[in-house]
Amino acid sequence: MSCLFCSIVSGDVPSNKVYEDELVYAFYDIDPQAPVHFLVIPKEHIPSAGAVTPENSAVVAHCFEVIAQVTRQLGLTDFRVVSNCGLQAGQSVPHLHFHVLAGRDMTWPPG
Ligand code: 5GP
Ligand code: ZN
Repeated sequence: MSCLFCSIVSGDVPSNKVYEDELVYAFYDIDPQAPVHFLVIPKEHIPSAGAVTPENSAVVAHCFEVIAQVTRQLGLTDFRVVSNCGLQAGQSVPHLHFHVLAGRDMTWPPG
């Protein structure tokens, strides 16, 4: 099965890396929606937030540790974390990812 974000993890598709360890990869979004916009993804292929289980949830916790660490390193105190799940919610890549957006005022609720 071909998956764009699995191909980014493997290096087959180039990306602008923010962070990497054995479990997680983070890279800048190709179409930024804020002055700072990067994605944090598990290296393991998990289709969406709706596919998190007791067996794979540890990597989700790790994603949030990485989000806290990277935002701290970038000097970001105010940021938004978003995960779209399903087409109606705006998910366009079926590999779990957390958007991290910062650097501008955010509105609520999101559109
Ligand atoms: P979603 O729409 O699934 O919530 O988020 C997918 C995100 O992946 C979008 O913000 C989109 O701009 C980003 N994206 C799609 N293709 C690529 C790519 O090839 N490289 C990078 N860096 N980001 C991508
Ligand atoms: Zn994948």
